[in-house]
Amino acid sequence: MTYNIAVIGGDGIGPEITAGATAVLNKVAQKFGHGFAYTYVDAGGVAIDKYGEPLPKQSLDQCMASDSVLLGAVGGPKWDTLPSHLRPEQALLGLRKALGLYANLRPATLYPQLAEASPLKERVIAGGADIMVVRELTGGIYFGERGDEQDSAYDTERYSVFEVERIARRAFDIAVLRSKRVVSVDKANILRSSQLWRRVVEDVAKDYPDITLSHMYVDNAAMQLALRPSQFDVIVTSNMFGDILSDLASAITGSIGMLPSASVGDTARGMYEPIHGSAPDIAGQDKANPLATILSAAMMLRMAFGLQAEADAIEKAVDTVLGEGFRTADIAGAGDKVVGCAQMAALVAQAV
Ligand code: NAD
Repeated sequence: MTYNIAVIGGDGIGPEITAGATAVLNKVAQKFGHGFAYTYVDAGGVAIDKYGEPLPKQSLDQCMASDSVLLGAVGGPKWDTLPSHLRPEQALLGLRKALGLYANLRPATLYPQLAEASPLKERVIAGGADIMVVRELTGGIYFGERGDEQDSAYDTERYSVFEVERIARRAFDIAVLRSKRVVSVDKANILRSSQLWRRVVEDVAKDYPDITLSHMYVDNAAMQLALRPSQFDVIVTSNMFGDILSDLASAITGSIGMLPSASVGDTARGMYEPIHGSAPDIAGQDKANPLATILSAAMMLRMAFGLQAEADAIEKAVDTVLGEGFRTADIAGAGDKVVGCAQMAALVAQAV
């Protein structure tokens, strides 16, 4: 079977890391007898330069016509002075909206081989960290009514039952396949929208009797993530809390170049991308770590195409290559074998 993948290289290191991911996908195709057909799509700064807008209609159409989207990163200093509606990030917002991607899934996994890179003490991370943050992506305060008045400004957090229910279901469905624990994070001691959030999550939990649900206030969740990350499995939370907590969870693993993400909705078509940005400081130097993008491609195989064994093969290959001591510069320590972006991808492909 052939899967059509829209590949948005984007800006900075984006094209280098997506090239790394397609190299690995090609190996998977060869080994498992699939076809991956790539459509290369312009979005972000590169599209602004070519067409004067971050997400031209033909780019959106190409993504809508694909089975799934693989994204490198967009943005860079060159476009920082543009008005906000013309900036590269608008491409991401436009894609999320058009593709109906309301759930952002960010696994934060601590690789034992990279434990030294974690900013936390050894005794804190001894229990490991394998956390899946499920963040609501299209509602809440980032999308609520906002305005400026004479000497004040406001933003509004509003959630509907429908919005909370669908993200909660998504989190419980994921937890069924993991260790069957969900922590819902809110601020229900103060916010009305959080009180509704908690009520709806509890209602949804009734359909998942095997899952243990607990609630945590966001301030405590931040503290607990730093104190004892191993207590978490699936975290489900609102757009803004998820934005902040997923960065914290990622920081625990110590390696921004390692962490993948998926943005999904109700159709199989999602958007898969590393959590890091376009790293303009190392762009074009073959220094970028392609593993986050390669692992995003693995998430795509599993979630968009249902190719479990293929996704496992990629994740295992990454593990193997790290186990052999190969590192890109961002995660290298004394005694490691430092390789560039393309070679790292080639090593993973070989290990597949
Ligand atoms: P960044 O993630 O691009 O870089 C932060 C630091 O991490 C840099 O030192 C960079 O070299 C390093 N780094 C990031 N990814 C790496 C990788 N794969 N391998 C090795 N090192 C890596 O964050 P930033 O500097 O704040 O942002 C740069 C640009 O990226 C900005 O224009 C920002 O808007 C954009 N951005 C885009 C996305 C996205 O496309 N989803 C996300 C975040 C930031």
